[in-house]
Amino acid sequence: APALGDNFRTLLAWADAARDIGVRANADTPEDARKAQMFEAEGIGLCRTEHMFFAEDRLLAMREMIFADDAVDRRSILDRIGPMLRRDFVELFGIMKGRPVTIRLFDLPLHEFLPQNREGLRELAEALDLPLSDVTRRAEALTEFNPMLGMRGVRLGLTVPEIYDTQARAIFEAVVEVAREGATVVPEIMIPLVSAKREVEIVKARVDAVAAAVRIERGVDFDYRLGVMVETPRAALRAGEIAPHSAFLSFGTNDLTQMTYGLSRDDAGRFMSQYVAQGVYDEDPFHVLDADGVGELLMLGAERGRRTNPGITLSICGEHGGNPESIAFCRDARFDYVSCSPFRVPVARLAAAHLAIAERGAERPPRMY
Ligand code: PEP
Ligand code: MG
Repeated sequence: APALGDNFRTLLAWADAARDIGVRANADTPEDARKAQMFEAEGIGLCRTEHMFFAEDRLLAMREMIFADDAVDRRSILDRIGPMLRRDFVELFGIMKGRPVTIRLFDLPLHEFLPQNREGLRELAEALDLPLSDVTRRAEALTEFNPMLGMRGVRLGLTVPEIYDTQARAIFEAVVEVAREGATVVPEIMIPLVSAKREVEIVKARVDAVAAAVRIERGVDFDYRLGVMVETPRAALRAGEIAPHSAFLSFGTNDLTQMTYGLSRDDAGRFMSQYVAQGVYDEDPFHVLDADGVGELLMLGAERGRRTNPGITLSICGEHGGNPESIAFCRDARFDYVSCSPFRVPVARLAAAHLAIAERGAERPPRMY
């Protein structure tokens, strides 16, 4: 990606001086994180960790894990992936130079790790040294009718807890490693697809236990923040119960829109323009945050969350985070920051400044010469 020009950087610096809402970037890979730095995002608001498990050297181990008989087997297989994850986090923290990084725990249906055709199943059976019939049966058992509403996010986290344990350990070990080089990182660990307080309590207890174990093993103290992704309508409704267990709430409006409207986020584009043309919706709700649907859930969740945890950090990390009208909405709701794809960060910084200046009245920009 090209570097920002000097004049544009100056303009963005003025924008930063004027705006009153933070801007972070969604970044999953070191390459994205470098872009986030280049566009001067204040941190990473969403790191989707799934890709770390798809890397060539880990895929087979993940598949082995899926076929493992019990927790002990799963644990030992995942322990092989752990050090690789740790290296990824060390790299990410290094690039972000102490800026906040929100790491979203694994959020994919497990069957996405299985081959989709007969040839793939045969190769996998060979690699794992298992009968083809076993592999086929297991793959079928994992197939869901509606994976987007199935064993995803925290539901998988509670069903195969070794995955989150492994991730938490890798994150904490990376924190300890960068601390040895003098850098302090306070990772923000985010639980996806929550719909009940109890899910948060269970994950929190396990992550706390991993943190305690790493502190003792390494003889180093460190902090971390645990938060919740609000992306089911029930999580927004129950935010008042969830917030006391949560340092932050980040609204994932991609899933929240899908579930509020009952509209597939991957397919709605096919007919949305007709819907808008006929006046069913004012705009595509996946593009602009609506005040009378998803937006109302955001307001309600924010208000309920603040009531039981006044210091809670609030943000949005769905695609809406980079949309100026949606940023206006988040600013009105007094969110702490928006998180959007790296390339939208400059627009978000300008849009946020525009809103603040419009409210306060025009000011002269500082002289640059
Ligand atoms: C969301 O659902 O809004 C979100 C940011 O998560 P993902 O897009 O990974 O489902
Ligand atoms: Mg989501």
